[in-house]
Amino acid sequence: MTAVAPATGARVSALRAKLKEKELDGILISEGSNRRYLSGFVGTAGFLLITEAQAVLATDFRYVEQAGRQAPAFRVERIRAGSDWLPKLAGELGVRKLGFEAENVTVAQLGRFKDAFKSAGEAAPEVELVATTGITIEQRAIKDSNELALLQRAITIADEAFDEVSEKIAPGMTEAEVAWQVELAVRGRGAEAVSFDTIVGAGPNGALPHHRAADRVIREGEPVVIDMGARYEGYCSDLTRTIILGKPDARFGRVYDIVLGAQLTAIETLASGMTGAECDKLARTVIETAGHGEDFGHSLGHGVGLEVHESPGVGPTSKNVLENGMVFTVEPGIYLSGWGGVRIEDVVVLENGRARVLSNARKFVT
Ligand code: ZN
Ligand code: ZN
Repeated sequence: MTAVAPATGARVSALRAKLKEKELDGILISEGSNRRYLSGFVGTAGFLLITEAQAVLATDFRYVEQAGRQAPAFRVERIRAGSDWLPKLAGELGVRKLGFEAENVTVAQLGRFKDAFKSAGEAAPEVELVATTGITIEQRAIKDSNELALLQRAITIADEAFDEVSEKIAPGMTEAEVAWQVELAVRGRGAEAVSFDTIVGAGPNGALPHHRAADRVIREGEPVVIDMGARYEGYCSDLTRTIILGKPDARFGRVYDIVLGAQLTAIETLASGMTGAECDKLARTVIETAGHGEDFGHSLGHGVGLEVHESPGVGPTSKNVLENGMVFTVEPGIYLSGWGGVRIEDVVVLENGRARVLSNARKFVT
């Protein structure tokens, strides 16, 4: 599939509207995924300085040529070590109130920026650095059509890879061997990489929600939790399935049906306008009613996009309001120490107020 160019123009316009609302003359974007989202530049170093009239991508020698190609809507400014470029550029663009990303700029970096403004003296106007949080993160929570296409590709790759690998899993294989097969299957279908280290939790290891695949041998009759994803053109997928080799015992069937029931209930009843917490509750109530409330110790889901975990949050304390265009996971689980776990995870997009499931990997049938 040939990717369409990202609609960075529309993204920058939307950001400018936000700047106006917040009475900022400009914003300095330093966080990598935000930089990529707004400019198209995928390099790992550089800053965007965006004002009402200008969009500048400041990066060093290593990335100048790449930046020109990937971010044609930005003026590329070559910078050297140090922070002197910032007062110079801010002065040239006439910025007085400059926002920065408080969740990304370190205290040390902020100190260097302030020092640079101080030592620029009369050469630079008085610039006020204003801490901002979440501006681009919130924007990224609602996906445009280009992002949806890339996400769907990343999701389909993971679905197909899971279906292929799950057929091959046999007693005697280690968790790490399964993880490696997942990686091969994902890469073989055109993914850049797995979107995170694949989790394969067999038997009691499945009770640790973020257990990494290790040398444990998978035995017949124990649940195996596989949590995996593919990254395609920067976009991440996230998929969990729980399988069992051989004949499941009665406990597995019971636990699996509760988790699946919780997941399907949430997917069928979640709606735009709910908060992340209200959405979480849809599944949590099913699990609590079945007597396993204490065994579901994580959030129901999370947004997914350029990062595996991004806005919106879909957990017991999330105040994020779910809106059309948001893409997030629905992944309830039950974990029983010493026995194992069951988690089932799909990615959904909110459309016309309801969830549409984007994942399509086979689900175990009890
Ligand atoms: Zn996952
Ligand atoms: Zn997840």
